[in-house]
Amino acid sequence: MSATSETQRMEKIVSLCKRRGFIFQSSEIYGGLNGVWDYGPLGVELKRNLKNYWWRVVVHERDDVVGMDGSILTHPAVLRASGHVEGFSDLLVDCRTCKSRWRADQVVGKKGARQCPRCGSKDLTEPREFNLMLETHIGSIDPRSTSTYAESAASLTSVAVPSDPSVGGPIRATRSENQPSDVMHPAGEQIALVYLRPETAQSIFVQFKNILEVSRKKLPFGIAQIGKAFRNEINPRNFTFRSREFEQMELEYFCRPVQGMELLQYWKEERLKFYENIGIPRSKLHVLNVPDMERAFYSKGTYDIEYDFPFGRQELEGVAYRTDYDLSQHQKASGKSLEYFDEETKQRFVPHVVEPSAGVDRTVLALICEAYSEDQAADEKGKMETRVVLRFHPRIAPVKCGIFPLLKNNPQLVARAKEIVDLLRPHMTVFYDESGAIGRRYRRQDEVGTPFGVTVDFETLGEKNAALRDTVTLRERDSMKQERVKISDLLQILLTRIA
Ligand SMILES: [Zn+2]
Repeated sequence: MSATSETQRMEKIVSLCKRRGFIFQSSEIYGGLNGVWDYGPLGVELKRNLKNYWWRVVVHERDDVVGMDGSILTHPAVLRASGHVEGFSDLLVDCRTCKSRWRADQVVGKKGARQCPRCGSKDLTEPREFNLMLETHIGSIDPRSTSTYAESAASLTSVAVPSDPSVGGPIRATRSENQPSDVMHPAGEQIALVYLRPETAQSIFVQFKNILEVSRKKLPFGIAQIGKAFRNEINPRNFTFRSREFEQMELEYFCRPVQGMELLQYWKEERLKFYENIGIPRSKLHVLNVPDMERAFYSKGTYDIEYDFPFGRQELEGVAYRTDYDLSQHQKASGKSLEYFDEETKQRFVPHVVEPSAGVDRTVLALICEAYSEDQAADEKGKMETRVVLRFHPRIAPVKCGIFPLLKNNPQLVARAKEIVDLLRPHMTVFYDESGAIGRRYRRQDEVGTPFGVTVDFETLGEKNAALRDTVTLRERDSMKQERVKISDLLQILLTRIA
């Protein structure tokens, strides 16, 4: 498809997401907060279905993985040891002409010349390091002393504050290695700099010893986590793809050094299967074997799993063999042993780790992009019209079944339809709709990706043919085919199809 039609396709997707309640701009009524998004009633169901399915296959269906849920607020020592305080940065470039700000890799124009993507100016600053971590402070802060506080906070970030001519040079923070950097608040209470975690992985490494002890797992085994992470992206873009607040699904799979490369291949294949099982075909996924030069120095192998978004091929997940880098760093910095004792060989060593790390929001976006389609369907009078349909895999669809009485002013039809709602609701998400022509009700559910529709009609009441009493029509979204099924079989049929 051409670039223009792909741009139009993306615009339609963004518009549908807002119109039908999948994704909204955060703080929209105040003009929006850049790079931050809220999920509406249907978006949250889709996201939960994705996370639940990941948790099911990565944790519940395996003997060798346990879960955890770590805190977002993170001790600075953790992120110093992991290398984030020093090195978690992007190169930043400012355009002097239009004052826009870019990641250095975004300003490479034609023939390699650096050029502002917005105004075309070549008057750009030299690239400089910009740390992507978001900071906050714990301890009560007295709003009456904001100026004093701001000064303390500035010194804590260890960024030079503007020179004070009376002092004669930039003021720099001093802080001890393993304590949260704290200052005495004027009121006498300590306030301390902490970070909003840039990835969920570090809390897994830091809790490795505790979890090893309580779970009594033997290598190889994994610890899984789903949760929020934060990156102060220089230039959030492509809808929810590059956001400042996002959710990750991460597994740290610990092993013996000799198993690392083999497990890297194993997890790459497992993860590809996962995407196929939620409705992203293998043909739209690409595995990038990250070359030596671009890999983190400690990684012995990394695969990026990429998806063809309308805005280009982009990473959904990284599967990385991180060796013993993280645990060794934390062992060194904390002074606590993070070794594993092998009872068979009587050896002690720091385990290696393979990490499949997936983005929840990116995958949700990929699911919506993949599902979006338009086709032709007949309206009430048999005239063909364009139908917008989200072809979600039934497993992840936000609503599983629409339930419709043929007429809303017939108490018997309405009563039977509501009985079916009560029958299905304990087992799946359902949506009851009695308003408008039946064709319009189907369309509304097609547009949000509901895979099945049940219609209660006069046949259900047995008025024309006693043999059809207590049956309903079951309509399938993609084929629009309808079949007549017994109400008593309905739950089992649907459970099989949405499993
Ligand atoms: Zn510019």
